[in-house]
Amino acid sequence: MITIRNIRKTFGGNTILRGIDLDIAKGRVVVILGPSGSGKTTLLRCLNALEMPEQGSIGFDGDTPLHIDFARHPGKADILALRRKSGMVFQQYNLFPHKTALENVMEGPVAVQRRPAAQAEAEARALLEKVGLGDKTDLYPFQLSGGQQQRVGIARALAIRPELMLFDEPTSALDPELVQDVLDTMKALAREGWTMIVVTHEIKFAMEAADVVVVMDGGVVVEQGAPQELFDNPKHERTRSFLQQIR
Ligand code: ATP
Repeated sequence: MITIRNIRKTFGGNTILRGIDLDIAKGRVVVILGPSGSGKTTLLRCLNALEMPEQGSIGFDGDTPLHIDFARHPGKADILALRRKSGMVFQQYNLFPHKTALENVMEGPVAVQRRPAAQAEAEARALLEKVGLGDKTDLYPFQLSGGQQQRVGIARALAIRPELMLFDEPTSALDPELVQDVLDTMKALAREGWTMIVVTHEIKFAMEAADVVVVMDGGVVVEQGAPQELFDNPKHERTRSFLQQIR
């Protein structure tokens, strides 16, 4: 179980997150929807300590439990431990431009986790195979399409063997014809049992892959539930009006 409690974040006097609570069971896929500016990206960045919330906590149970209380100003070791548990996939891929696909995927395990290079390489090749890029290992990002770059981004996040995968609008920078391959890759991960939080505007993906859909607005969770139920029978007016806009 991953337990997220009372995450609060303010930027220059603007409160963006007003106390977010989420419980995510192992192997579950949570899709976060919500209007632009509702704080979805900020929440993901807080969960990975790319932004520091002023308050709140995240806890992982399991064999190597971890509990981070952001109000207590966690140190470098705690932040590193948190980042080892959560792999992030960014909207703009954020690949190293001067490294091949294979080198991009090996970077985390070798440079950060100090795993043996041969083992990291074998694993990176298997991950690139898994995301459908087994024949592109030696290409550089500029030689790959946006969709292929994003799948390298997914393989790179998987390479640290995270307990939680965070996807920040992974298809929104892609040309429409490239979106499906990335969504299919994510659906395959969901079926494999990865625990995932996905910020997206792809309703069809939410319908097909989410266990729980969370609707955010104005820095709070407005409503959450199973996708079918939430889409067919939204309980809150703000959920209804948001769904009307995007359907
Ligand atoms: P979108 O769907 O458009 O990506 P979002 O729900 O992901 O929106 P966020 O990107 O989390 O929303 O942004 C929420 C608010 O926080 C916005 O008003 C944004 O301007 C503000 N914000 C985000 N990051 C910063 C920052 N580093 N400094 C100041 N304000 C920020």
